Amino acid sequence: MPAPPTQSVFAPRAEVCTALNVDSQTFAQAHARFPVLWPQAYLDAALGSSAIAAMGKPDMRETLVNPADLADPVSDLALRPVPFLVRKHIDRVILLTTKSCHFYCRFCFRRAESHRQAGNPSRTDWALIFDYLRANPEIREAILSGGDPLTLSNQNLAWILEQLDQIPSIQKVRIHSRAPVHFPQRVDAELVSVCAQGKPLRLVCHFNHLDECQNENLRVIQMFQTAGISVGNQAVLLAGVNDSPADQVALWSRLWDWQIWPHYLHHPDRAPGNAHFRVSIQKGLDIYGQMQKSAQVPLPSYVLDLPDGSGKIPVAEMDQLSNCAYQYRHPDGRISTYQDGGV
Ligand code: SF4
Repeated sequence: MPAPPTQSVFAPRAEVCTALNVDSQTFAQAHARFPVLWPQAYLDAALGSSAIAAMGKPDMRETLVNPADLADPVSDLALRPVPFLVRKHIDRVILLTTKSCHFYCRFCFRRAESHRQAGNPSRTDWALIFDYLRANPEIREAILSGGDPLTLSNQNLAWILEQLDQIPSIQKVRIHSRAPVHFPQRVDAELVSVCAQGKPLRLVCHFNHLDECQNENLRVIQMFQTAGISVGNQAVLLAGVNDSPADQVALWSRLWDWQIWPHYLHHPDRAPGNAHFRVSIQKGLDIYGQMQKSAQVPLPSYVLDLPDGSGKIPVAEMDQLSNCAYQYRHPDGRISTYQDGGV
């Protein structure tokens, strides 16, 4: 088994501060809220990309309280029937395999949960998770999330996949990871082989900007594809990063060239400390409308993950009640409301 990444592949704090023009106090305060960590190669790429820099730059705005912040932006904390398992739907669950990432995206809704307190599942927790899946055979899909599941060792990931393989009702597995984007060095032949065994597995990456689509990223994507693993992408619409039709069309066109299927374009979630990344519903709809007019490739669904835990809904299908108030009528007649928190 290859050795896990050592600290040397991550940039020292002083280098991060210099490269991003951040003072040490800002770094320390942002880091206390949500860890700051940069793979060296991704920091090098940030020197030539304001989009990449913005996604990971520690910022004092992360310490401010915004009236639109939500303590549990997508009800991920509330909907855990057992620790480290999120269930919003009948047929699928999210498994929080780890709290660790190779890079901590400053916009991520996971920042709503205290990183210090989040913890990692123990073998006892995993036993509870697998018991729950066996006891609820209507659950057909397990989505490995985190943190980033590819921060796990190949051995640990293989163990999880083997356990899932032994639960007959689980028919497919999905891995959500940003490692192929900001830490492609993580992907080795053994990892791909681990993923290619067992239940049909899909990899959903998280490219947000064309600047992240480099030769090394393509190389590791092709490793998965060559092994028969379908690769998709979800992105987040982020102010100051990719909030223009041109940025979006360029991204999804390149990904289509790479045979990556378009999954979701997420409206940003309202986690404490990420207000400077938010766009309004109206702006998001305008951008998506322009994308639909100009793109020559299939586009992702533009979705909002509702704060009430109902899951993702198409943004365009919400009804605007007033300036900031929206509602969505679910197919079963339930109504969810949403207060716009973007600008
Ligand atoms: S988006 Fe993914 S990689 Fe980035 S901080 Fe969130 S969980 Fe980690």
